[in-house]
Order: sequence, then C-alpha cells, then structure tokens
Amino acid sequence: MDFQLTEAQRLFAEAVRRFAHDRLAAGALKRAHQPRFPFDVAKLAADQGLLGITLPEADGGQGGSLLDAVIAIEQVALVCPRSADVIQAGNFGPIRTLAEYANPAQKARFLPDLLSGRAVISLGMSESEAGSAVTELKTTARRDGDEVVIDGSKVFSTHSSDASLFLVYVRFGPGVDGIGSVLVERERPGFTIGKPSAFMSDEEWCQLYFQDCRIPAANVLLGAGGFKKQIAGFNVERIGNAARSLALGRHAFNLAREHAAGRRQFGRTLSEFQGLQWKFADMAMKLDAAQLLLYRAAANADDKGLPSAYETATAKAFCNQTGFEVANEAVQIMGALGYSRESLAEYCMRRTRGWMIAGGSIEMMKNRIAEHIFDRRFDQRPGPSKTDEN
Ligand SMILES: Cc1cc2nc3c(=O)[nH]c(=O)nc-3n(C[C@H](O)[C@H](O)[C@H](O)COP(=O)(O)OP(=O)(O)OC[C@H]3O[C@@H](n4cnc5c(N)ncnc54)[C@H](O)[C@@H]3O)c2cc1C
Repeated sequence: MDFQLTEAQRLFAEAVRRFAHDRLAAGALKRAHQPRFPFDVAKLAADQGLLGITLPEADGGQGGSLLDAVIAIEQVALVCPRSADVIQAGNFGPIRTLAEYANPAQKARFLPDLLSGRAVISLGMSESEAGSAVTELKTTARRDGDEVVIDGSKVFSTHSSDASLFLVYVRFGPGVDGIGSVLVERERPGFTIGKPSAFMSDEEWCQLYFQDCRIPAANVLLGAGGFKKQIAGFNVERIGNAARSLALGRHAFNLAREHAAGRRQFGRTLSEFQGLQWKFADMAMKLDAAQLLLYRAAANADDKGLPSAYETATAKAFCNQTGFEVANEAVQIMGALGYSRESLAEYCMRRTRGWMIAGGSIEMMKNRIAEHIFDRRFDQRPGPSKTDEN
C-alpha cells in the first residue's frame, strides 16, 4: 500500500496549483459572490487542459484518471473555491454521464462546446415530489415517430440559468426499468426555464418546465432501463461533490490557521490557546481521514473510471460532514471576520452545507453503506418488501 501520489500526479498537482495561483487567486473572493457560471474561468481551464481530464483523447479529453481529476479540483478549490465548480462541470457532473453513454454522433455534437468552456450542461433529475426517492420521477418521454415528446418539470438544477444543454432523467414507462435520460437543448420549443431562485450559497437554480417538448429521437442518451447506468455515472458526480466539500473545508482550515497564527488577544496569539489548538487537531484528523476515503474511492475506480457505489458513499458522506464541520469551526475561530463576507471562510461554510444534501444526501449515503454492511437491500418504501422477506 502506498500513501503517496506518483511522481506524475505530484507534478500535475503542482502545475494545477501554479495555474490556480497565477490565473485565479486574484479574483477568488469576488468570484465567490457572483451567482452566474464563470465562463471566463471555464475558458482558462479548457486552455490549461483541465476539462475532460478523464475523457479519452479521441473524444477531446485528456485521457487521465479519476484521481487526476480529483487532484485538479482540489488544487483549484484550495486557491479559488468558486472556480472548482468549473472543474466539476467539465469533469464530474452530467458531462461525465453524457461522455460515458453517448454515441459517436452525440459526442461530436455536444462535447466540443462543453470541453472548450463555451457551454455548460445542467442536470435535470430532481422533481418536487421526487428528491431522495428519485425513481418516483414523473417527467415522461414518449416516442412519436422520429421525435420524443417530454412532459413534466424539474427543480434545483445547478447552472440552469446558464446551461445550453440539459441532461434530463425521464420516464419512458412504469417502474425503475422505465427510467432513462434525454439531452435537451435550451432553445427547444416546449421547454421553459423559470425565474431564478437562489440556494443559501447564492448559486442560482431555475425550475424547468417541459410541455409537449419535442426533441429528435437522436437526443435520447439512455432509453428505458438506463437508470443503473445513470447512477453509475452519477457516482462520479458524487466524487466531485466530495472533493469540493473536502477542499473547501481545507481552504477554510488554512484561512483559520493563518488567522490564529497572527491574531493576538490577551497578549498572545490565538494559536497559543489550548482550546483552539485542540479544535485544529480535531479538524486536521478529520481532513486527513476524509482525504484517504476520497483517494481510495477515486484510485479504485474501474477501468472506465467509474468508482464503486460503497466507496463513493463512504467518501461522500464523510467528506460532506468533514467539509462542513471544519469550515464551521474555521468561522468560529476567525470570529466576526470569519462570519463576514470579507473572508472566504463563511462562503466555504455555506457551500459545504449544500453538499450534505445535494447529489444524494448524507442520510442516503449512509443507507447505501448499511446495505453494504448487511449485504442486503433495504427498501425505503412502506409495506412488505420483497427483499426483506428473503
Ligand atoms: C446545492 C444543491 C444543488 C443541487 N443540484 C441539483 C442538480 O443540479 N440537479 C438536480 O436534479 N437536483 C439538484 N439538487 C437537488 C438534490 O438532488 C436533492 O435536494 C436531493 O436529492 C434531496 O432531495 P430533497 O431536497 O427533495 O429532500 P428529501 O428527499 O425530501 O429529503 C429530506 C430529508 O429527509 C432525508 N431522507 C429522505 N429519505 C430518507 C431515507 N430513506 N432515509 C433517511 N433519510 C431520508 C434526506 O436525507 C433529507 O435530509 C441540488 C440540491 C442542492 C442542495
């Protein structure tokens, strides 16, 4: 067992760190308070080869590993937390599911704009009545000749104010086996994007409405029976979510450490108070433990770069908890300055809070972990469950 990055990974991390310091550090605070997708950063990241890190070179990617993508998102987040969303969108989010399951014609149509930073893709998965219970989604897709007709609506889609393409989970028929996904361009007739709302993080999301929305059948990504594949792709999104949670926790930790080393009260630096030293020790232990779980999940990804459900769940739940707890403590240690928008600590706290819910909540991840522990499926729905009877 080797707990070190390889020489190539270390050099890559250094190169990304240098890029982030040179190109992203200056605007980091301002960027954190701008709700719209930072396309300027996306173009810089594309030029630096930081979009499509895990995609094959034949598809316009860099041919790297999931761990390479994790290293990139961490290094960017440690300098500019908001810019890490660009690395997420260009490597871990719906772009990854698209790239995994798209046919050559779909890749040729959609990937170039996404990988050049000119466009961003948004995920339409959650519905008002289908959150954690995502398989209860009601948005339908019906084949009509060469077209597919979509009806329904979606909530909470990240980047929906700015996305030109949406990966939408739809129902072609009843039950889990009826679920698949389609690619919908922003300008499609019958597709309306509602007024922006804001999360606690200030990020915008819009409700998506599909009313007799017709798309070419060529825009079907995965037909009925595609749900398991979608979730396999979504596990990559969860790794990016976990990596940002951890990196923003570490970002806030670094701010608090610097503050505690310099700030004096009662004639001593804050770092000299044991009450605060022990906070730092607890934070460091959690960050290190979370880091190992994250790297394990990424390093053990299969030959397609897809991580296992169990290792993803443990990494995501623990990184989500750790990121928020550490950022929250960092705010406390920094006092009013930490709570103020003059510092990125409060931003890290607000962002990490959201990832405890997004992408499969901590509770849903723990349900998955429990299934692994007991080696059986626990149906969350009321009533006798087929698997419980076994
Ligand atoms: C920052 C952010 C970004 C998001 N981005 C997107 C996006 O881009 N696209 C998209 O489609 N959606 C997005 N979402 C929505 C997200 O996927 C849902 O919020 C999430 O699936 C939870 O659903 P819900 O909010 O409806 O909560 P609910 O499912 O109603 O759950 C409420 C609470 O009950 C708990 N709970 C529910 N079921 C169980 C259970 N069986 N066992 C134990 N506890 C349970 C949950 O953990 C949660 O704490 C985003 C959400 C956030 C916060």
